[in-house]
Amino acid sequence: MNSYTSDAEPPVAYHPGSAEYDEHCAGFQLRERHQPAHVVVARSAGDVVAAVQHAAKSRMPIAVQATGHGLANPLRGEGVLVSTRRMDSVDVDPGAGTAWVGAGARWRDVIEAAAPYDLAPLSGSLPGVGAVSYTLGGGIGLMARRYGFAADHVTRLEVVTADGSLLTVSERDEPDLFWALRGGGGSFGIVTALEMALMPVARLVGGGLMFDLGQTPEVVSAWLRWTATVPSHMTSAMTTLEISHRHFAHVQIAYLGSAQEAEELVAPLRALKPVHDGLQEVPYRRSDTVFSEPDQPHAYVGDNVLLPAIDEERLRDAIAVSAPGRSVPSIVSVRHLGGALSTAPRVPNAVSHREAKYLLCVVGVVAPTSTSDAASARAVQDELLAGWSGTAVGSSPNFTFGRADQRSAAEPFDAASRGRLLQLAHRYDPAGLLRPSFVIAGNG
Ligand SMILES: Cc1cc2nc3c(=O)[nH]c(=O)nc-3n(C[C@H](O)[C@H](O)[C@H](O)COP(=O)(O)OP(=O)(O)OC[C@H]3O[C@@H](n4cnc5c(N)ncnc54)[C@H](O)[C@@H]3O)c2cc1C
Repeated sequence: MNSYTSDAEPPVAYHPGSAEYDEHCAGFQLRERHQPAHVVVARSAGDVVAAVQHAAKSRMPIAVQATGHGLANPLRGEGVLVSTRRMDSVDVDPGAGTAWVGAGARWRDVIEAAAPYDLAPLSGSLPGVGAVSYTLGGGIGLMARRYGFAADHVTRLEVVTADGSLLTVSERDEPDLFWALRGGGGSFGIVTALEMALMPVARLVGGGLMFDLGQTPEVVSAWLRWTATVPSHMTSAMTTLEISHRHFAHVQIAYLGSAQEAEELVAPLRALKPVHDGLQEVPYRRSDTVFSEPDQPHAYVGDNVLLPAIDEERLRDAIAVSAPGRSVPSIVSVRHLGGALSTAPRVPNAVSHREAKYLLCVVGVVAPTSTSDAASARAVQDELLAGWSGTAVGSSPNFTFGRADQRSAAEPFDAASRGRLLQLAHRYDPAGLLRPSFVIAGNG
């Protein structure tokens, strides 16, 4: 254990060779890991301020990590990694229906804190994901069509900018940053905590219908037709995946309403006779059963496009990349958007492309140490998504996994928003010290 040499209050820093350094550099994404010169394990906003001030004084690059699910731009042998893992407190104000969420809190922490008050956050498919970074990237969750992007429901943030200033950011204070941080990602500072509205949701009808991959053509066709008819209380996705060497098409459903209504709505999909039917009414704290995603760290690369419509035949062709026997196993997932996601929030924010109706995402699961695996998976994704570039309206920052080249198949922001985000990134980090995983094109 060492500390910085400085006249200001030095935060404790860990260096290569220590157990703490290894623990805090490790994360969910195993393809790469941060290898900074210093790791600061922050326990408070004051620790983050001190770490950033020390790094800024020496003009060292600064990165931040909560869980490592979104790692894409690791520090290599230089700079300071601020680990927020210990800043995982969640304070719920049941009267106001809000939660003050620490930078290191995972969705499961927020879900657990909100549940006793019959409230729920706008969390996503995997409760192990960090709530703050997910929200900074927009956040498309299980109740997205009913309530919109997670970023639309942020009311206040506390952020440490690249010069070490601690700012309160809200509609009134620092309105430019309030716009940028809600959807524009981590290019403007380290958010130490944020306040989000919770939804009056205690239960949902959620789970998956699993079909044999051979049924995919009819499942694709039925699911797409079905999405054109369902109310905004229904949010769903369709994913092709492999479990124990068997391939399935998995329809993931989250419905905010009664079991009886869900039964009637889902009848056309059940008529295709799923091999497994896991749909049931559950408390929101069991919302992980909607996607049933594996919670073990692994290595992956992925990208996405946002689409105004999906041609059924082309989607069937796209899904063929996840068929058994391919040299690079890929997971293809389509999320149904629209509903409240199409409506801009009262206070505008940086989330772009609200007109999209579907998100098409391809993820390749690769061997942790193999760069050739990752390159092959990338090649498959680039080719597949390039085929959609003519119709894509953009991409989602949150579904760009491990892109070391920082390029997505489509632009995450509309031109005006991108220009404004770049200006603000230069204003709040003029020396380009921050090293976010999601980089706005043209910044650095
Ligand atoms: C299995 C899986 C499921 C997912 N499901 C969804 C989903 O349903 N919906 C959705 O919208 N997204 C989803 N995502 C994407 C996820 O929201 C992003 O990858 C997000 O960045 C992860 O945040 P994290 O804190 O967990 O990861 P980290 O790797 O810890 O953080 C990712 C990056 O965010 C930045 N960052 C982290 N903390 C801060 C901070 N306090 N201040 C400023 N910047 C910060 C840093 O640049 C960091 O590298 C999923 C990802 C995975 C791997």
